Amino acid sequence: MTSVLDPKTIGKPVRPRRHVRTLTGYTPDVDESGKEKWPRGEEKVWKEGTRGVDTDVTSITKSIVNHVQTSLARQAYNLDDLGAYQAAALSVRDDLIVNWNDTQLFYTKKAPKRAYYLSLEFLMGRTFDNALLNLGLKDQYREGITKLGFNMEDLLEQERDAGLGNGGLGRLAACYLDSSASQELPVWGYGLRYKYGIFQQHISPEGQQLEGPDPWLESQNPWELPRIDVNYEVRFYGTAERLEDGRAIWHGGQEVLAVAYDVMVPGCYTKNTNNLRLWESKPKRGFDLMSFNAGDYEHAVESSNSAAAITSVLYPNDHTTCMFLGKELRLKQQYFWTAASLADIVRRFKNIGKPITEFPDYVAIQLNDTHPTLAIPELMRILVDEEELPWGQAWKIVTNTVFYTNHTVLPEALEKWPVPLMENLLPRHMQIIYDINLYVFHCHTMFFLQAVERKYPGDRERLARMSLIEEGYPKQVRMAHLACIGYRKVNGVAELHSELVKTTILKDFVEFEGPSKFSNVTNGITPRRWLDQCNPELSALISKTLKVDKSVWLKNLDMLKKLLPFAEDAAFRKEWAAIKQRNKERLAHHVQTTLGLTVNTNAMFDVQIKRLHEYKRQTLNILGVIHRYLALKQMSAAERKKVNPRVVFFAGKAAPGYYIAKLTIRLIVNAARIINADPETRDLLTVYFLPDYSVSLAEVLIPSSDISQHISTAGTEASGTSNMKFCLNGGLLVGTVDGANIEIAEAVGENNVFFFGHLTPAVEDLRYQHTYHPVPVEEKCPALAKVLDAVSGGIFGDGSVYDPLLNTIRQGDYYLITEDFDSYIGALAMVDEAYLNKDEWIKKSIRTTANMGIFSSDRAILEYAESFWNIEPIKVT
Ligand SMILES: *Cc1c(COP(=O)(O)O)cnc(C)c1O
Repeated sequence: MTSVLDPKTIGKPVRPRRHVRTLTGYTPDVDESGKEKWPRGEEKVWKEGTRGVDTDVTSITKSIVNHVQTSLARQAYNLDDLGAYQAAALSVRDDLIVNWNDTQLFYTKKAPKRAYYLSLEFLMGRTFDNALLNLGLKDQYREGITKLGFNMEDLLEQERDAGLGNGGLGRLAACYLDSSASQELPVWGYGLRYKYGIFQQHISPEGQQLEGPDPWLESQNPWELPRIDVNYEVRFYGTAERLEDGRAIWHGGQEVLAVAYDVMVPGCYTKNTNNLRLWESKPKRGFDLMSFNAGDYEHAVESSNSAAAITSVLYPNDHTTCMFLGKELRLKQQYFWTAASLADIVRRFKNIGKPITEFPDYVAIQLNDTHPTLAIPELMRILVDEEELPWGQAWKIVTNTVFYTNHTVLPEALEKWPVPLMENLLPRHMQIIYDINLYVFHCHTMFFLQAVERKYPGDRERLARMSLIEEGYPKQVRMAHLACIGYRKVNGVAELHSELVKTTILKDFVEFEGPSKFSNVTNGITPRRWLDQCNPELSALISKTLKVDKSVWLKNLDMLKKLLPFAEDAAFRKEWAAIKQRNKERLAHHVQTTLGLTVNTNAMFDVQIKRLHEYKRQTLNILGVIHRYLALKQMSAAERKKVNPRVVFFAGKAAPGYYIAKLTIRLIVNAARIINADPETRDLLTVYFLPDYSVSLAEVLIPSSDISQHISTAGTEASGTSNMKFCLNGGLLVGTVDGANIEIAEAVGENNVFFFGHLTPAVEDLRYQHTYHPVPVEEKCPALAKVLDAVSGGIFGDGSVYDPLLNTIRQGDYYLITEDFDSYIGALAMVDEAYLNKDEWIKKSIRTTANMGIFSSDRAILEYAESFWNIEPIKVT
């Protein structure tokens, strides 16, 4: 193998060696008349052998039995539920592969502009049910599975969630994939194939969160196709030597292999089936034979381990980058994934045979948060060092191709990397970042910092604020700044959030460049999973009522508006309420079978499920619950009779290193233990913390909720998407004036939402007061002070355990719980009052669902397609 240090190649640019068969290459032979010739063998034999999608029950059972007997090598007498699920899944996979193949060939022939969604997280959940529904085959499979002696619901429960994400950001990526395929857009996802997804959450007897590994690939995963022949070499460390012509040679260091795994993404009632390509890291040559022969076996094994480690585990932090600050493995993951994805994208583009300058006409790359920001210097490296383009031309291509979505304005969540770490791991990229900082031709005039200097002469502070490099020990690379000068467009994820991005963290850039690069795309959710799949009875009622097949309204969600008049129809309301009740019973059954606890299904179901984070204020919720408990204890029996019974559900994971968030879980669990055991109050108030929150758990919880809580400190929640899921399923919302809550209220009517709390513009001043002119809680909010004293006093066991948590409120109160507590309690009282009028409540519920159409992720993805990527739907025929 030639080496970069080989005298014959020294000084020449090094092109990465790729072992790739061009799977998607398409160069058909044509005959004299210009007609396409069959590529090989006898066309008739090929066509006769070609498999279609089986839709009748007999073909389906045949295919399942075939997989039982051949793929699994089992028989009817030794087949359990897991085996039956696997055989049925493999049979569905055959259908997906047929559609997937047709789609990819079709795209290759048509060569449309494509969009690529780069996300470090894809929180997919389960696939079996979703695939059956999108293919329109669920009824047939149910019948076939019954005939084979199994139960569909039991088989669905066999599948493990693909938990390759932390929360909202990863779930958003999954919804966008579903919408891209359903709206027939040529979009691929790129991510990492983590061997271990988000950790499994256990709760200890003391109420503490314990983390266990998530070996989701333990029993084989039928939903992925290994593409051993699609692989790329990715380099780390080594040296970057600049040449005189502006290029550089990067050599030495460590090389690892990225191997592709493809996950098929079926559209809803369409042949279009898109791809999610996940990369796995492997040692380049297995064992390094040289060191093996030299007797250094241990070293050889070690390097193979360190290559495999790159895609071993998902980092379990959400909105808290500080917890992996300086973690080299995390940066390695980010580069490994962007480098492999870009190599793959560039190769596919080159197969079209167009000049590289036309790259932006065929490729749009969307970056989900700053995690893939290295795509900018990496694409520059490819264009300058490998394609030998002049710097300015390369920069123009990059800035016309790449788009960036911002997901947070929380300062602790803004990504930064220490310069020494990046210099060591990615020496060439560090050079390029420095060059961009200094020499980028910006606004067709000047170099970036020079251009800033010229526009604001003498404003050194502004220069320092805007630089890609933050001064300090060590210096740090600001990924969001790199993102927003290297991208064609930047967007936030809800109206308020996009405004905040423009007026806070990227203010200098908006002033510098004008506002046209900065816009908003409000998040969405897929109604396939978050209505049809999780709430089949409601979906069926909607189809029946609208007299429209779900294959139509699920892809045109604005049609839900036609439900509005039925809010006045008593018979319809009765059906609506009965479905909510059955969904509550389904959840109660789930809690009974998994935790052995009996839930009161006659109570109002009040749900807060999301990652545990101080800004999301689960603490406010549990303190509100305790307040309610103390109030109930004070009441006479007669007074209690008038109280609206309530069951409060919590679920969510805390980052393993997030001490305060974990303490909140502990308070919830221990408060629940005492409250639920109190015979005086337990008919009126119970609390559950359901462990191990996941997409599948969300699918059971969301349809059962009467009210859900989205109570972040104003200005901190970028959008939220679980708020949309609840409202789509007819649950009402209690929340702050934050994120997408605001747009939901605009859509469903403010009288159908329970708002409380301070508004965003007040937050900064209030924080200032808490820091410099603190007022004791006893004065500021006596009701809250009583609750805090009760906890500290030990009603839920040793109160001192909770001091660090309660002190965040007593001192500083950064998330303003003392400021919002009274109005929060007031809002909950209004919820109780409204719930007493059942008929009115159901009307609100129906109106809410009816007005949620615009929160379909179909709307969001079409906005990206039209206003950002400039791609169009193409139907596979
Ligand atoms: C939708 C969803 C989220 C996002 O919830 P938010 O309340 O918007 O933060 C997180 N986790 C899972 C499993 C989800 O389905």
